[in-house]
Amino acid sequence: NSLPIIDSLKKEIKNAGLEDFVSVSLTGCFGFCAQGPIIRVCPDDIFYIKVSADDAKEIVQEHLVNGNLVDRLLFLEASERKKVSKLEDMSFYKQQMRIALHKCGYMNPEKVEDYIANNGYANLSKCLTELSPEEVIKEVKLSGLRGRGGAGFPTGIKWEATRNSKSNQKYVVCNADEGDPGAFMDRSILEGCPHKVLEAMAICGYAVGADIGYIYIRAEYPLAIERLNLAISQAEKLGLLGENILGTGFNFKIELKYGAGAFVCGEGTALMRSIEGNRGEPRMKTYSSTKKGLWDVPTCSNNVETFANIPPIIENGGQWYRNIGTENSSGTKVFALGGKINNVGLVEIPMGTTLKDIVYNIGGGIPDNKKFKAVLTGGPSGGCIPVDHLDTPIDFDNLSHLGSMMGSGGMLVLDETDCMVDIAKFFLEFTVEESCGKCTPCRVGNKRLLEILTKITDGKGCEQDLLDLENLSKTIATTSLCGLGKSAPNPVLSTLNYFYDEYKAHVVDKK
Ligand code: SF4
Repeated sequence: NSLPIIDSLKKEIKNAGLEDFVSVSLTGCFGFCAQGPIIRVCPDDIFYIKVSADDAKEIVQEHLVNGNLVDRLLFLEASERKKVSKLEDMSFYKQQMRIALHKCGYMNPEKVEDYIANNGYANLSKCLTELSPEEVIKEVKLSGLRGRGGAGFPTGIKWEATRNSKSNQKYVVCNADEGDPGAFMDRSILEGCPHKVLEAMAICGYAVGADIGYIYIRAEYPLAIERLNLAISQAEKLGLLGENILGTGFNFKIELKYGAGAFVCGEGTALMRSIEGNRGEPRMKTYSSTKKGLWDVPTCSNNVETFANIPPIIENGGQWYRNIGTENSSGTKVFALGGKINNVGLVEIPMGTTLKDIVYNIGGGIPDNKKFKAVLTGGPSGGCIPVDHLDTPIDFDNLSHLGSMMGSGGMLVLDETDCMVDIAKFFLEFTVEESCGKCTPCRVGNKRLLEILTKITDGKGCEQDLLDLENLSKTIATTSLCGLGKSAPNPVLSTLNYFYDEYKAHVVDKK
C-alpha cells in the first residue's frame, strides 16, 4: 500500500518546489498496524494515519507549505487533539519502551548510511577495539537478558558456554523461523532494521569465537530476505562484515538459510538439522547445542528479538538493561497484539507491565465495548489467562505460574462472544497439523485430544471426556520429545482450569 503513497508524495513535493528541502524516505514498521499506512513528518514528529496516495497533495500543501496540521488525518483522541504532537505522547506508545524495536520506523532499512548515522555498527566497533570477548559476555550476563524465542534461557550463560566449548569451528545461528500464527515481531525487526541483527550476530561471533553465522529464515518472508541480503552486501562492502572487520583481524560472515514453513523447525535441534540439509526433525538433547550444535560443533543460537537487544546493551551497559523490567525478567518484550482489540499492532513494553495496561491503555480496549474474557499468550502452545488475572505483571515466571507462557510473543485477546472450547480446539488443530510425527505422545496423543475436543464441541461429549482430556494432556506434556509436543496441550489445560463451566455446558450428562 505504501509505495504509491511515496510516489505521490515525491510528485507533490516536486510540484510545490520543495524537492531541495524535503526528502521522502521509506521506513520499516511503526508497530501501529491498526492505523497504517502511516506517514511521519520529521523533525515535527507528526504522525498521519490511514493515508492514501490521494492525501499526499493535502499533506504537502497544508503541512509543508502552509505549516498547518492536516487534522482529519491525525490520530489523536478528541481530548488530546490539540496538545499531542509527538508519537511518544500517543496512548498507544506512552507506556511502550522501544529497545528491540528501536530504530524500526525511524530510518530507511535499505540504506546502511541511515543505520550508521544512528550509531549503527558503533557497538561492534566498541567490542572489537575496547572489550575482550569475556568482557562482552560479562555485559550480556549482567543485563539478565533471557532468550525471547520462548524458552527464556539466559543469553549470557549461553554465550559463555559456547565460548568455553573447545573447538576450531563454532557457529552463530539466528532463529528467524517465526512460526506462531499472528506473531510478526521478528519479521518487523528484520524488515525495519536488518543491520541491527547483523551487528548483534557479529558481536556474538566475536564473544563466542565463531566466524560464521547463519540466519534461518522462513521463505514466506520475502521482504525480510530481500532486505537482509541487501544489508549483508552493504556491510561487506564497507568492511563491517566478512574478512578483517574494521581492520581488527576479526572475520565473520553471515549466510541466509531458508525454511519451508514447518512450525517445528523453530525448535532448536530441528532448525539445525534443517540448516545441515536434513529433514527438520527434533532430536534428543543429549548435549547442549553450545557443545554440539550445527554439524556437531559448538553453536550459539538466539532468535531475532534476542539479538536486537544486544547493540543497546553494549551501548548502554548490562546494568542499564538489568534495571528495566522485573527481578528475573529484565528488559522489554515485544508482543504482537491481535484478536478482539482496538489497537492491533506490535507493542514493546517493559517486563512487569500488567496485562490490563496492555489491553486497555496500549491496546485501546475491546471493540464495540464488549467484555474482555481472556488473553492467550504464547501462541498456539500458550495458555488462556482470564479476567481475574488482568492485574498480573507480565514476566516469564508470572505467565508460567498462570499456566501460560511468554512464547515468542503472540498475544490474542478474546471477548465475551468467544467460546473457550472452540479456541482450545482451534489451536490444537494447528499443532496436530504441525507435529513432525517422530514421537508417539505428540503424533498420536494430540490427535486423540483433538478427537475428544471435536466430540465435545459437536455436543456428543460426556463428563468422562473431560477427565480424559485432562489426563491425556498431562501425559502428552510430560512424555513428548520436544517443546512442540510438550506445550501443545497448554490451551486445553488452561481453558479446563479457568473455564471448566464452558466445557461442562457442552457435555451431555449420561447419568
Ligand atoms: Fe515431533 Fe511432536 Fe515429537 Fe516434537 S513432540 S518430536 S514435533 S512428534
